Amino acid sequence: MSELHLLSTEQLITGLQDKQFSSLELTEHYIKRIDALDSKINSFITHTSETARAQAQAADEMRAQGDKRRLLGVPMAHKDIFCTQGVLTTCGSKMLHNFVSPYNATIVSNIDKAGMISLGKLNMDEFAMGSDNSSSYYGTVQNPWDLERVPGGSSGGSAAAVAAGFVPVATGSDTGGSIRQPASFCGLTGIKPTYGRVSRFGMIAYASSLDQAGSMGRSAKDCAYLLQPMIGHDPRDATSIKHDMPDYVQDLNDAEAAAGDKPFAGLRIGVAKEYFSKGLDAEVETTVRAALKKYEELGATIVEVNITDPDITLATYYMLAPAEASSNLSRFDGVRFGYRCENPTDLIDLYTRSRSEGFGPEVQRRILTGTYALSAGYFDAYYTKAQKIRRLIVKDFEDAFANCDVIASPTAPTAAYKLAEDLDPATMYLGDVYTIGVNLAGLPALSQPVGLTSEGLPVGLQLIGQYWQESKLLATAHLFQQHTDHHLQHSTIAKETV
Ligand code: GLN
Repeated sequence: MSELHLLSTEQLITGLQDKQFSSLELTEHYIKRIDALDSKINSFITHTSETARAQAQAADEMRAQGDKRRLLGVPMAHKDIFCTQGVLTTCGSKMLHNFVSPYNATIVSNIDKAGMISLGKLNMDEFAMGSDNSSSYYGTVQNPWDLERVPGGSSGGSAAAVAAGFVPVATGSDTGGSIRQPASFCGLTGIKPTYGRVSRFGMIAYASSLDQAGSMGRSAKDCAYLLQPMIGHDPRDATSIKHDMPDYVQDLNDAEAAAGDKPFAGLRIGVAKEYFSKGLDAEVETTVRAALKKYEELGATIVEVNITDPDITLATYYMLAPAEASSNLSRFDGVRFGYRCENPTDLIDLYTRSRSEGFGPEVQRRILTGTYALSAGYFDAYYTKAQKIRRLIVKDFEDAFANCDVIASPTAPTAAYKLAEDLDPATMYLGDVYTIGVNLAGLPALSQPVGLTSEGLPVGLQLIGQYWQESKLLATAHLFQQHTDHHLQHSTIAKETV
């Protein structure tokens, strides 16, 4: 029983079906680990252990009565950006320190309906703005591979909890890399689906035209299992799109059954020199190139493609994302819910002090730059111009995909770094350089672990796909994982038994 948390989602499902353990035993196992070890990494903001136990017991009873839902009784946890009815939903902010959501996000309801057990709400950068979880009001999160290092962000709690063996899978959200980059830093697989694939209803908005929820796990198949109940059209999100509904797990099984000893024969992997630019750590580059070699050995062809200069993409993102954020975050005003300052003297004082006291410095910085970009005198020079460049970024991806099936790159220019008190924001923004283009174009992408640096830190390879091709991305990573064992390496905390 002590190794339960090292099992894959599929092994957990089989174990539950074969009655090797019950959902309640499994849930207790994870709760015990969280209680014993989360003080080291701070991945949870809220625990829902009691309701989890009750859900697990109910799941066991339903299974005994013949309920065949495949995820029935499998534990997971949510990034604290998703509204959970009756449960504190903070978005990593003091602004929502007392916000108990009156409704569920669509993905939360869908995952509930699939029969999964939620163990709680996971730490994150405040309002998902950040790349190292340092902006959370609820404290920094430590990387389970090396406690002196960051787990990445903004879904840092999700990544750390999975990498620590506290949950097999977790939800995340990705506006500019927030699933892929922490997955990379914590040795996980994480997928951001096509924009519109997953409902945004009940996911607290950062930059609405870029935000997309997705799944994180140790393997591509783990991600496929959790992503399945998350997808689908939702009339409550005007940007969610009606589209064919794949069965991701089935697609992976089919791909595996069809694969010979050269599983990637015919697959053209696009590699862009723009993704191996200045600022890329030498060891990250070597590890990523070795993974590309492995793909070639397994039958893939590498082709050279061009994508937009990442510096231009970065500037475009850091204009548009704050602009949308400044508008989205105007709803937090101290009036209806969330943090309210003490003894306001009048309405303006209420707004000003509630927002100044409730938002942390990074969020305030983004609101200020975003408001500036949207202001009458600068709208055309900044916002409209950035929108035009966004269109060109989409075009560059379209052109690249004329010559390849997927595009590969490092997920981030470095492995997990040590938290520096004086890390300036612009340096942190540079860490997003390879991930944000995907969000601006609305494309699906994943990060998969492809090895460790000499210091034992995970390195991620990003795979970008064409619209709606999550299955292809997951299958590509899955077949790679059938021939390699990077995804089977465990963090220091995961190796601890309690
Ligand atoms: N690091 C990026 C930012 O700070 C991306 C965050 C995200 O994807 N939510 O905006």
